[in-house]
Amino acid sequence: MAALLSLRDVSVRYGDLVAVDSVSLDLPGGEVLAVLGPSGCGKSTLLRSIAGLEPVSAGTVRFDGEDLAGRATHRRGFALMFQDGQLFAHLSVARNVGYALRLRRVPPATVAARVAELLELVGLAGYADRMPATLSGGERQRVALARALAVQPRLLLLDEPLSALDAALRESLAADLARILRESGTTALMVTHDHDEAFIVADRIAVMFSGRVVQQGPISGVWAEPVDAVTAEFLGYAGVLRDDAARRMAVAAGLEPGGLLALRRSALVVDPAGRLTGTVTAVLSTPELLRLQVDVPGVGRLHAVARLDARVAVGEQVPLVVEASRIARIPDSDA
Ligand code: ADP
Repeated sequence: MAALLSLRDVSVRYGDLVAVDSVSLDLPGGEVLAVLGPSGCGKSTLLRSIAGLEPVSAGTVRFDGEDLAGRATHRRGFALMFQDGQLFAHLSVARNVGYALRLRRVPPATVAARVAELLELVGLAGYADRMPATLSGGERQRVALARALAVQPRLLLLDEPLSALDAALRESLAADLARILRESGTTALMVTHDHDEAFIVADRIAVMFSGRVVQQGPISGVWAEPVDAVTAEFLGYAGVLRDDAARRMAVAAGLEPGGLLALRRSALVVDPAGRLTGTVTAVLSTPELLRLQVDVPGVGRLHAVARLDARVAVGEQVPLVVEASRIARIPDSDA
């Protein structure tokens, strides 16, 4: 893999606190990397150090082969986008998006054409003359994205770009963000605490805890094989089975037994074809499906799902199909 952005053993210290601890990362051109971790794990600090906003206390940040140590932030050719798009309130949408182009003395007709193209790309054609105060949170973030892309940055750095939005909007905007980054061929690094967002937007993922990257790679690989139970839980797996419970579940899922198993909330589905049997201990109705708790003998209490029209009641025994694609294997070293 030829990396465009490459970090080697990068550390950032604030006095005695090591906010970023010997992080190495590689991001190929045209790909999107999500750095996923809980609040306070050091992801923003890492992003800021790549931008040149935070001095690196050890290690190297290279872009396109060049060590960026001596290169000032504004000379890196990177763009940044934050949680609150930080639009200029007194400028129209079009003037916000074209701001950096005007600074570079791009001819007005070229700016206008480029702004129109960008607004189309982010789904805001027709919004050129609106003022930021009249926009929804999602629309503001789209404008911020268009503004960040205007100068065709060599690298786009996104700091929790969707976290200020409500859940439903976050998901649809995440899908749009994924499309926009692909269509524009943008190389991007996004930090987020939201595993769904990371999964939707990114090609690659790096999981970060306490300043360290504990796992990184293509998203499907990380999802299918988290390095340990803590990482699995952070990736949204609802529980981790060990020992006998893991062995029984592996057999039911048609997998080779071995190691621990992490299960998503929807890994077990009520289905007459199921070979596993569980006793329902709780039923919760959601708009799309029923979420259940089931007691499976020899395995324990697990999450399961059923179709909305399934007739299941607490105390009943139900057949369960195990969705192997919703189970991840964790190496045994964690046991
Ligand atoms: P995240 O983005 O994952 O929430 P941050 O990178 O913001 O985490 O912070 C990582 C750690 O560094 C935290 O303990 C935070 O309090 C600390 N930190 C961040 N910025 C500074 C700063 N400018 N001065 C001192 N400590 C900081």
